[in-house]
Amino acid sequence: MRSPYLFWSSRQSAVISLVGALFGLGMVFILSYQVSSSYNAEVQRSRQGTETLAQVLEGQLSSALRETDLVLHDLAQRLNEADVAKADLGETRNKELQGLLLDKLALIRQADNIALVNPQAAMTHRALDTTGGEGLIDRDYFAMIRDNPFQERVYSRLVVANDAQKQGIVVARRYEKSDNQFGGLVVASLTTQYFDRLLGTIDVGHNGNILLLDDHMGIIASYPKRKNAAVFKPDANMVAQLNNGSLTGTQLVQSRTDSATRQTSYRLIAGTPFVIIVSVSSEDYLAHWRDATIYYLLGGGALLCMALLMTYFFWRSHRLARNLQQKEIKLNASEARFRQMIETTPVALVLAKLPDYFITYVNQRAADLFDMPQAAALSMRAFELYLNRLDFMDQVERLHDGKTIRAVEMRLQRHSGEPFWGSVSLSEVNTSESSTVVLGIVDITERKQMESELQRRATTDSLSGLYNRAHFMETANQELARAQRYARPLSLLMVDIDHFKRINDTYGHDVGDKAIRALSDICRGVLRDVDLLARLGGEEFAALLPETPRAQAFNVAERLRLAIEANCIITDDGQEVRFTSSIGITELRANDPLVDDLLKRADTALYYSKHHGRNRVSIAEEIDEHGNTQV
Ligand code: GH3
Ligand code: MG
Ligand code: MG
Repeated sequence: MRSPYLFWSSRQSAVISLVGALFGLGMVFILSYQVSSSYNAEVQRSRQGTETLAQVLEGQLSSALRETDLVLHDLAQRLNEADVAKADLGETRNKELQGLLLDKLALIRQADNIALVNPQAAMTHRALDTTGGEGLIDRDYFAMIRDNPFQERVYSRLVVANDAQKQGIVVARRYEKSDNQFGGLVVASLTTQYFDRLLGTIDVGHNGNILLLDDHMGIIASYPKRKNAAVFKPDANMVAQLNNGSLTGTQLVQSRTDSATRQTSYRLIAGTPFVIIVSVSSEDYLAHWRDATIYYLLGGGALLCMALLMTYFFWRSHRLARNLQQKEIKLNASEARFRQMIETTPVALVLAKLPDYFITYVNQRAADLFDMPQAAALSMRAFELYLNRLDFMDQVERLHDGKTIRAVEMRLQRHSGEPFWGSVSLSEVNTSESSTVVLGIVDITERKQMESELQRRATTDSLSGLYNRAHFMETANQELARAQRYARPLSLLMVDIDHFKRINDTYGHDVGDKAIRALSDICRGVLRDVDLLARLGGEEFAALLPETPRAQAFNVAERLRLAIEANCIITDDGQEVRFTSSIGITELRANDPLVDDLLKRADTALYYSKHHGRNRVSIAEEIDEHGNTQV
């Protein structure tokens, strides 16, 4: 029989390995998909983030510039040609104008000064009298607005001649005289402080930066602040796009200084030549993704290891199961051989388990021997095979000392209860789980029969069927010893046919034999079963009568004598032959060591009977030394 766990086929194990491999591949796929999609999402989010930041900044800057422009427009309305053209207007007007400029400056907090510039590009008035600050506006721009009557305003880079650090923007508005000729400029300057404040409010991470550039890519303002970088080297791609009239764009730029990639969004500030560039470093926007990826990889790696381990254990258990299966096949083969061996052995084998001795196996020979089907034996106990179950228990008792019992002759019984002789060998086989008694039985009935036949032949006389002399002597001596030990009476009779020679001579030897058999039968009939009867030789017989004093023995002898006398044998030719017998009796005495002594005395008594007319009984004890009887 196969154990259920041995049902791993190689096909199933291949399926298991495939499932393991697919699981591993699936894990790798899911992991890489998760990592790449979260990377893309992170990049996309940072792209949108920088775009939004650039948009917000652009909005704030352009509204700040528009606001400034509006205030300048309003200021221009309140000026006359002389205010712009000349510096010295008299103390009253100068003060008035100064006050007006200061009022307007107060309206636009982003500006740090407001000034008036005459058509010769000289500053005539300003709100705050800061030192330096000459040459407010780039000459090219000045010329551009002067020569173009349709140019209402211009945004330019603030140029401070003696202070390279001072950066900013100039908003210049065209002032027209009453004849619509160029009358100068109303100018406001927006300097770094404002931009620093503004850019500082934007969060671009630890490694991000924001730049405000003029149309020559000169840095007007930057966050974080740059020390010696007055000119920014922009990405060629971006410059190309700006030149093509693009107002906004976002791209990934590989950093020139470190391994980081920057998400860079640029935006042209509406109506101005300025560009705002916001860039966020991958060091920042991918930081969270990197952390998450490490955890994903660790988790995924752990799962993958588990999958590999599981596959390995499946494989190992499969290999184990296959080995077991092969061993089982071998075991089955050897068990089959063994079974065949014990089924064909001429010895009957019975296995019974301890402690209840229920039979667990019988071979065919045993089933035949006990005359029952093999299956029927399995509901029996081993001792039921014995005629006397105590014999079995005795044997098992002796087994417990680790001995084996070899070829002991036992009375056993067949299923029907018929007894028979068997030669039984026993041994005990102990395993960790159970103890089994192994019985090997050989049928010795025939041998026993032969033995008893030999025994019978050795002890009996073939003609009469009575015991022979040798057996009589042996048994009589035992009986004698017993009677003496217990001081019990015992008598011996000797019987001899009278004139036997004559029968032989007259009718032939066969009739003589017949007479011997007839006398034997009469003796058997008259004597008890306990009496020991034997033919000592010729036509001479002896009978030992236990528990019998000589008076009682005399009565028995008389009955015997009369029965012999009354008997008649018929010869083959129909003649009747009668014969008589003489009997001698003696009784056991305290000093009789052997039956020979009794035989001698009984013989004497018998001799006496022969000499006193035959067909009579004499008692040895009642004959005196002179041969006379006392009765
Ligand atoms: P007695 O009355 O004195 O006993 O006379 P008897 O003729 O019986 O004398 P005895 O006892 O000496 O004779 C024994 C004879 O019995 C001798 C022998 O021929 C005969 N005999 C011995 N054994 C057998 C036997 O087995 N069969 C036959 N038919 N005769 C036997
Ligand atoms: Mg005789
Ligand atoms: Mg004789």
